[in-house]
Amino acid sequence: MNPSRAPIIAGNWKMQHGGRSGCELAASLRRELGDPRGVTVIVAPPFTALAAVSAELDGSPIAVAGQNLHAAPSGAFTGEISAAMLSEAGASWVIVGHSERRQLFGETDASVAQKTAAALSAGLRPIVCVGETLEERDAGRTFDVVLSQARAVLDALAASGGVHALAYEPVWAIGTGRNATAAQAEEVHARLRALLAETSPALAASTPILYGGSVKPDNASALLACANVDGALVGGASLDAAQFLAIVAAAHRA
Ligand code: PEP
Repeated sequence: MNPSRAPIIAGNWKMQHGGRSGCELAASLRRELGDPRGVTVIVAPPFTALAAVSAELDGSPIAVAGQNLHAAPSGAFTGEISAAMLSEAGASWVIVGHSERRQLFGETDASVAQKTAAALSAGLRPIVCVGETLEERDAGRTFDVVLSQARAVLDALAASGGVHALAYEPVWAIGTGRNATAAQAEEVHARLRALLAETSPALAASTPILYGGSVKPDNASALLACANVDGALVGGASLDAAQFLAIVAAAHRA
């Protein structure tokens, strides 16, 4: 990690933990976190638990994120949630373009760019996810894929005033127990940072780039020690307070 960028540890609960168990998990995190010592700690509960978890965490250093949003501010979009609704429910961040959204729900670079812009214009801080599949990695296309996904949101990020984050999440490492090595992560993070630098050195310097994909307490330190890894987007291990807080502690030490 580079000390000029504050580390971010974000937990993506996915479709796990409704209001009741989500509040229990949030209460444990709040009780046991103590002083986050400069680490930005975020949890992303499912939509139905957002307001309750936000209330549970009110006044704590833990921020709340949505897991997705619709790009329109309102309208006839059954089952969808706008940026303003997330914000009203207590979210200050939102995950955009997670690979499960791209792969299972047909999200494209264009829709991810629209959602990113919509989040920013409603005052939500987007965590934009990029990452290659195993097939793409094996075909030597990792940089092509990741950089073109990132290029799609560059204009929005450049205009964001530095409130966004990127997350590199190799699809083959998500929920598989198979994380990228520190060297594999750093290689891609450094390329992403170089892409940001083409727009402006300030954008490159100020953009936190998180790694996601089977981050656990036992591999977090090595990943977070990389110069261009500024934090972690954590799935499975964020469902357990002790594991998630151990990853936050690894960010303190990095
Ligand atoms: C994720 O879904 O963003 C993720 C990184 O999941 P896991 O940590 O379980 O691989």
